Amino acid sequence: MKTLAIDLDDTLVDTISVLLDWIEESRGFRVDAARLATYQLGADEKQTMEIVNGFYDAKAHHNLSANPGAVAGCAALANAGFRLVVVTARKPETAALTEALVERLFPGAFSEVHAVGHHPDKVRALRRVGARLLIDDNARQIRRAADAGVPTVLFGDLPWNRDFAWPRRAAGWTDVVAMAHSF
Ligand SMILES: [Mg+2]
Repeated sequence: MKTLAIDLDDTLVDTISVLLDWIEESRGFRVDAARLATYQLGADEKQTMEIVNGFYDAKAHHNLSANPGAVAGCAALANAGFRLVVVTARKPETAALTEALVERLFPGAFSEVHAVGHHPDKVRALRRVGARLLIDDNARQIRRAADAGVPTVLFGDLPWNRDFAWPRRAAGWTDVVAMAHSF
């Protein structure tokens, strides 16, 4: 059975729109396009991490919903015999909350959820789960996985990955389902 490793935030789930609204409500500023292009949500990297970490404990986290087509896409892949595993760079401390989110939005679709943290990358987890393919919106994770020999699909047309030249891109979940079969 082929295992697909799929990123959570902004790949399976539309995180950024909820996160940006929450930042505006809780901190009083709207992240502008220039910052979004580098995924710098705060004044610097430290504040960005502080904001993202605070979001997991916020009520707004419960407002997250699946990206368009993701629920049907995952069901189609599971029906086609793929084993689906979430590999997210969320911190290990968020594991329970993250598993609950995946189960709420994608009941029964994923056999495992791995919250591996930001550093250094997802490669160790990808090897452990025997990933045949990584689907992720994060260009750094995609490059590192590819360097480690794991095939990749860069997901979405997002401010932080739009200018990243990569041979295999999925504009949305219809593309993901179609592309997964060639791995
Ligand atoms: Mg992501």
